[in-house]
Order: sequence, then C-alpha cells, then structure tokens
Amino acid sequence: MKDKLQQIIDKAESELNSITTKPELLNAKSRIIGKKSELNSLMKNIKDVAPEDRREFGQLINEAKDYLQQLIDSRTQIIDELIYNEQVASSRIDLTMPGRRTVQGGLHPLTQIWREVEDTFLSMGFEIADGFDVEDEFHNFDALNTPKDHPSRNLADTFYVEDNILLRTQTSTVQIRTMENYQPPIRIIAPGRCYRNDKMDASHSPVFHQVEALVVDENISFADLKDTLNIFVQTMFGQNIKSRIRPHFFPFTEPSAEIDISCVSCGGSGCRICKNSGWLEMGGAGMVDPAVLESVGIDSEKYTGYAFGLGIDRITMLKYNIPDMRILFENDLRFLKQYR
Ligand SMILES: [Zn+2]
Repeated sequence: MKDKLQQIIDKAESELNSITTKPELLNAKSRIIGKKSELNSLMKNIKDVAPEDRREFGQLINEAKDYLQQLIDSRTQIIDELIYNEQVASSRIDLTMPGRRTVQGGLHPLTQIWREVEDTFLSMGFEIADGFDVEDEFHNFDALNTPKDHPSRNLADTFYVEDNILLRTQTSTVQIRTMENYQPPIRIIAPGRCYRNDKMDASHSPVFHQVEALVVDENISFADLKDTLNIFVQTMFGQNIKSRIRPHFFPFTEPSAEIDISCVSCGGSGCRICKNSGWLEMGGAGMVDPAVLESVGIDSEKYTGYAFGLGIDRITMLKYNIPDMRILFENDLRFLKQYR
C-alpha cells in the first residue's frame, strides 16, 4: 500500500517537473488528484480494507493527497513566474533601437521670403498695410489714373467677378485705400496676392505676389526712392548688388521708372539667368502722380510721394535659384522639403 502511494507520488513529481504551461498543469492536476485519478480509486477501495486498518489507510491517502496538492501549488508558482518573466522580456524597451523620425512641416519658400521682405521694410520704419483681393474698378484702375480705354482693363487681362468688381491686378489698390484713410506722413508696404488672366508658364502665373511700397511726406524726392530701393535689395541679396532705374510709363506715377538690379547670379558679367545682360528686372517705381494725391484729398502742393512694386515670386526665385515659377505653385513636397 505504501509502495503504491510512493509510486503515485514519484510519477506525479516527474510529470509536474516537465510541465511549463497553465493548460498542461490543469490536465495534470485532474490526472493526479481528480475524480478519475489513481489516488481516488485507491480511496474507493477502502471498503475492502480490514476495519481495524481503515483509519491508517485513510490517513496515508490523505497525507499523500496533501503532499501532491503542495507539489501542484509549487509548480503553479513556478509557471506563473515563467509567464511573468516572458511578458517582461517581450515588452522591455530596447534603448539601442533607432528612433522613429517625427516629420516636421516648414514654411513655403514664398512665405519665408514674404516674411523676410516684411522684416526688411519694418526695420526701415515702414508699416504693413492690408487690402482686399476682391476690389472695385475705382481702386484698381480709376483712382490710379488708368484711363477707361487702357488695355489692362480688358476682360482678357483681368478677372471680373461682376460688373465693376474684380480680382485686383496689383497691390497698388492698397496705396489708394491707405491715402483715403490717412493723412501724411505715410510710410507703408502692402504685400499680397494679385490676379491676372495670364497663362501659366515659367515666368507667369494667374496668381502672383507683389509687395507695394508707398511713402508720402513733405520733401520726398526721387533720391529717397533710390536710397530705399538700394537698402532693400542689398539687404535681400547682398552688399554687392546695385540697382538702376530706367525711364518708363505707369499711369499713376510721374515720372515713372523700371527697376533693375545687377544679376544676383553672375554679379553683372552676364549669364543664363540675366540673359547675358548683367541686369534683372525687378519691378516698377515712380513719384506718385499729383493727380492721384488730389483724388484722395492730399494736398499735392505740400506733399510728394514715391511708390514702387516688386514681385515676391521673382525675389523668391532669385534668392533660391528656382528656374521655373510653376514650381512655386505645384506644392510638390520633394521640392518644398529642400527649403525647410
Ligand atoms: Zn547673370
């Protein structure tokens, strides 16, 4: 009898030692001490034992059962530890793994230059004025001295929203709105979007960006205009850059001029970008026509002023050596990433 119990215990010990999972353990537990276990069938045989020996018999079986339960409990503990250690190992943070890069956005090159232009003029004492993208004909043409039959008013060149209402073709509209509302001294720039019915190509876009400057005060002369322009282009492109002025015609300035700067690429010796001329066209300028001053109620005997307009797209292309204007509007991330 004792031998039989020892056999059961030995067998259970070796069986439990090889178990590593919870389901295996549950099966083993039912085999070892369950209803259909060898131990349980021994217990059922108690009726065949002589009455005087039954007490000892029962005691031995109970002791064996307690011992087997202890074996199962300690195996359960070992398996729980194994599972816990595995979980810790699999969720451990590996500090030697390479990190994941966070992708960070950046400002569009046009926005970067727009802000640089603003900062440059702010440092020269200008204020920033804002206007409307949708304008009336008066502010876009009439007040700027543009005759009714001027070709720029043509439907083919200008986007009309309805009769008399259009998408502004120039930021000069802000000059008029500023002079209507403020008396001199005036010293503003107006950066913004403009619209013309141009076909998109390497140097044209139906939407483009201009910055307009307007200064009206006593004793303002053409020399002041040249000085301001020179400081601006040298701040943007470098101290070696020269500017020059060629006579031109604009309806709202008198005299009027076109502004060139020495080529930022070759420095004036001639290259592909300046078409071998050594100069780059930058925009238009001039002294505000006295008729324009009078039309907005500013005394043209007392005050004079100058204005100029430059292309922000053009400045961006020159600064970043971008050969085709369309690239600025395509928003191809592979291009934009280079200017972050
Ligand atoms: Zn050049």
